[in-house]
Amino acid sequence: MPYPSTFPPLDIPEAVDLWTLLLGDRHRDFPVTKEILTCGETGRSYTWADLRSASIEFGKGLKALWEWKKGDVLAFYTPNSIDTPILTLGALWAGGTVSPANPLYTVDELAFQLRDSGAKGLVTQPAHLATALAAAQKANLPPDRILLLGPNRDPSGRIRHFTSIRSPGSAGHDDARPPIHPRTDLAFLVYSSGTTGLPKGVCLTHRNMVSNVLQASYVEGSQWRSRGGPDGQGDKQLGVLPFFHIYGLTCGVLMSVYEGWQLVVLERFDMERALRAIERYRITFAYVPPPVVLAFSKHPAVDGYDLTSLKVLHSGAAPLTRELTEAVWNRLRVPVKQGFGLSETSAVVCCQVVDEWAKFMGSVGKLMPNMEAKIVGEDGREVADGEEGELWLKGPNVFPGYFKNPERTKEAFSPDGFFKTGDVFRRDKYGNFYCVDRLKELIKYNGYPVPPAELEGVLISHREVADACVIGVEDAAKATEVPRAYVVLRDGVKASETKAQELADWVATQVAPHKKLRGGIRFVDQVPKSPSGKVLRRIMRERAKEEQRRS
Ligand code: AMP
Repeated sequence: MPYPSTFPPLDIPEAVDLWTLLLGDRHRDFPVTKEILTCGETGRSYTWADLRSASIEFGKGLKALWEWKKGDVLAFYTPNSIDTPILTLGALWAGGTVSPANPLYTVDELAFQLRDSGAKGLVTQPAHLATALAAAQKANLPPDRILLLGPNRDPSGRIRHFTSIRSPGSAGHDDARPPIHPRTDLAFLVYSSGTTGLPKGVCLTHRNMVSNVLQASYVEGSQWRSRGGPDGQGDKQLGVLPFFHIYGLTCGVLMSVYEGWQLVVLERFDMERALRAIERYRITFAYVPPPVVLAFSKHPAVDGYDLTSLKVLHSGAAPLTRELTEAVWNRLRVPVKQGFGLSETSAVVCCQVVDEWAKFMGSVGKLMPNMEAKIVGEDGREVADGEEGELWLKGPNVFPGYFKNPERTKEAFSPDGFFKTGDVFRRDKYGNFYCVDRLKELIKYNGYPVPPAELEGVLISHREVADACVIGVEDAAKATEVPRAYVVLRDGVKASETKAQELADWVATQVAPHKKLRGGIRFVDQVPKSPSGKVLRRIMRERAKEEQRRS
């Protein structure tokens, strides 16, 4: 029997789309003048009312600009800023689907996402324009479909430029929102490699996202609300997670708009800046990945700031060790609780409640309301209580499938409709879940997904490489996995340390920085393969673990 959530079921309204949930008329326990988005560097900010009016204006402008239709995709290639959530919400207002990309993507990586998602437009910033233009060209997206957010004008005049939240088009002649069908219309198309292969578009409907905001709000929001804030302004979140990743999007942006939390946005993570922002804004909590927890436990600058406003850190996106949790508590007396989620589940699946962080240390918490989970052994049957197996999930926040990819979609679900996560879990008798391993190939560097198949493809395209296998290896000192390649060289090419470095440096020029081969390159005579030619990464992972044990 599947495990039901131990929380009471929630009433998730059928007819509400994400924009309406966040910015429509409903009772709120915060005023519309509440500051929601604040730039951590400049202090520039938007209130909830600003967000509402500016997103409508942007949505109207979008409709006027490109004959925007329901389901059209607007891609984003920008670092975090307080403006991009407005454009995201504006595209949703206009019935669009938002596809955010990592701003450190290379031309080819971005071009792939633009092509695959069929993006009709792309939002970027001046520092990223050159890559955006080159990628757009490769994806056959004309330059006038690029919206440039920021103060500098494009000298060529080809790029449609707009400052801050002003409308990109001549807003006004069609003020109506298209009707949205929350169960089928897509709010987001985020990219993830799933359990295997290259990145795929993860379809997230309005109902998926509305559900996850309500689920997470029930478990998370209620805890914060009851605790208030240190300066009477309610809770304040440090916004360091990237908005292009589902964790930062749902827990950072969407939850803040729904809950009325002030989100203090930093363009990217930098410990000194983060500490300065916590002190200056009296920040009360932060969603972070494990390497940031490590920084709180070890970084020397921590002692130089007043962090007394910080009530809790929430770690997700990758495994967190007990040692790190204890180290932060011993140093700062700040609890670190854990959660677990995936792109395919609109983010949050499990979450610890604050009061249980110490009692069930190491757990990723309890299952969200309205979800069911199975823990399944290799024979496809549910394992006995307390035993390990693959986590399978059902619930209103679980995605309907990969974009235009029925084959991978079919593989991702069991015949009885459970999504197979590729993660190994166990559950204790109190309903706490523990993420103990990963069956799937995915590597997580600092919480960012690195698909090994993509790096293998890059390596094999090198003229000196005959074959390659990429796996993740632990870098305990940095609290993260790092990608390592096992490479078979072509006949006549000599293996050496210099050759390994040369190849690793070359790969670094081909991929976004988080995909660099930080775990090095090892040369081998052959890569283990199944009779059908599938790379057996598991064998290499076992070998690497054995090497690490011996060293
Ligand atoms: P993504 O789709 O990029 O969010 O990646 C989802 C994957 O990240 C999961 O399937 C897990 O493998 C991993 N993950 C997320 N949260 C945790 C956690 N708390 N502990 C261990 N792994 C995690």
